Amino acid sequence: MLGKECKAAVFSEVGKPLEMRQFKLPRKLEPRAALCKVKMSTICGSDLHTISGRRTEPAPLILGHEIIGEIVALGSDLKNDGFGEKLEVGDRVSWSIMASCGRCFYCELDLPQKCEKLRKYGHTCCNEPPHLTGGYAEYIYLFPGTAIYKIPADIPDEIATPANCALSTVINAVETIGLNEKESVLIQGAGLLGLNLVALAVEAGVKKIFVTDVVKSRLDLAGKFGADFCINVKDLACKEVVSQIRDQTDGYGVDVAFEICGVKEAVGLAVESLRIGGRYLIAGLVMPGSDLGIDGNQLTRKYLTVKGIHNYNPKHLGMALRFLEKCSQKFPYGELVGRVLSLSQINEAIESASTGKHIRIGVRTG
Ligand SMILES: [Zn+2]
Ligand SMILES: [Zn+2]
Repeated sequence: MLGKECKAAVFSEVGKPLEMRQFKLPRKLEPRAALCKVKMSTICGSDLHTISGRRTEPAPLILGHEIIGEIVALGSDLKNDGFGEKLEVGDRVSWSIMASCGRCFYCELDLPQKCEKLRKYGHTCCNEPPHLTGGYAEYIYLFPGTAIYKIPADIPDEIATPANCALSTVINAVETIGLNEKESVLIQGAGLLGLNLVALAVEAGVKKIFVTDVVKSRLDLAGKFGADFCINVKDLACKEVVSQIRDQTDGYGVDVAFEICGVKEAVGLAVESLRIGGRYLIAGLVMPGSDLGIDGNQLTRKYLTVKGIHNYNPKHLGMALRFLEKCSQKFPYGELVGRVLSLSQINEAIESASTGKHIRIGVRTG
């Protein structure tokens, strides 16, 4: 296998379709690296942002970070997965979206997702070896410092594939801000992060789940996942939304809110909707210029806690896979990947993903 040729879809510039190119698999693996045959990728919103030019990445590159694969070669020192189970050729695996050095200032602080030598899958120029670092390809090279997890057998490919992005991130979000069965929660955004968050909130046994979005089909899905109140904020004034939430919380407001919609204007609504002493987790504002436009007076007088997170610690991926193993049957996870196309149809898959009709589009490689 090592040293052979394979194909990958390469993004080179905005407005140009991805192009299939030949790459050579490495001849040798670093001791803690692995080589995987890609089984499936799903197209994330951030990939679409790169393709449309809303976000800049070092091109040319192989996009795709929501990936699962099958191990075809293991470095000599790579023995176990993140669960401590023995890794072997042929294992179906998921891995963290980033590789970290384990030694720098942030790694020492247990923030490996902010490693000073961070390498992210689907975000690295493919001109440099090992070239194959994105999901829209037949093979992928897993750098040393990547957390690899065997996927429990009961989780289908379509459900396991995006778990290393959305579900792992919201598990981090819940762990960071806290959530318990006595509380009510507002989830701003019913994309993949929001739907996963509804599932986590249901499993945490929370009192009431409010979800806001501007797309009816997404809100319908949030309802199917178990949200109690799905509010379309498209044509509603902030005041009306806040009064709906207060009416359902004895006039106090929600205990916890999550921003995962990427819309800065949503922040004011959450600050109004939170009770005194409430907690707010911001995880969706990844674009520069996200001025919050809120009155600091409210943070002070309302005793609010506001925290931010970005991505996740590798352990959250292990928790995500265990959660899916236990709970994925209870929720309509099967409805999230609307279509699955082959790698040779990558441009059609991207077009389909851009319509926003489906939560995810899958790209099957093997
Ligand atoms: Zn993603
Ligand atoms: Zn580091």
